[in-house]
Amino acid sequence: MNDQEYMQIAIDEAQKAAVLGEVPIGALIVYKDEIIASAFNLREKLQTTGSHAEMLVIDKANEVIGSWRLEECTLYVTLEPCPMCAGAILQARIPRVVYGAKDQKAGCAGTLLNLLQDDRFNHQAEVVSGIMEEEAGELLTSFFKELRQKKKKRTIEMDDNNKQ
Ligand SMILES: [Zn+2]
Repeated sequence: MNDQEYMQIAIDEAQKAAVLGEVPIGALIVYKDEIIASAFNLREKLQTTGSHAEMLVIDKANEVIGSWRLEECTLYVTLEPCPMCAGAILQARIPRVVYGAKDQKAGCAGTLLNLLQDDRFNHQAEVVSGIMEEEAGELLTSFFKELRQKKKKRTIEMDDNNKQ
C-alpha cells in the first residue's frame, strides 16, 4: 500500500473518534508494510492529557514490537503532531512520519516548529506532509462546525427556557 492508502485508513480511525464526540484525529503505525497499530484521539473519554492518537498508537506499537524503539516504522497521522507527540516520536526513534492536515495552532512538524528535523536532537525523522490534506482537514472543520451549531442551539434553548 502507498502513503495515500494508509492515510485513508488513518482517516477511517479519525471518523471513529468523531462518532464518539472526540476531535477526529487518527493514527497508524506501519512496520514492514504491515499495520501493527491503529488508534484515534480519546482525550474526552479518558480525560488524560496524553491521550492523543499518536501517543496511543505509539503505546500499542511498543507492545507489539516489544520495544520502546520503533525503528523501521512509519507513523501516519491525519493532523500534524503537536509538541508532545513530536517529542514522543523522537523518543520512540520513529524514522518516518506522514501527516495529512497542517495544524496552525500546535503543529510541530514544520508549521510552528519542526521538532522532527532539528539536528540538535539525537534523532531526526523524515517528514511527509499534505497526504490527503483536504480530507483530513475537512473532517476537523466539519466536526468543529457541528460542535458550534450544537452549542448555539443549546444556548438558544436555554434562552427560551429562561423566557418561559
Ligand atoms: Zn499530540
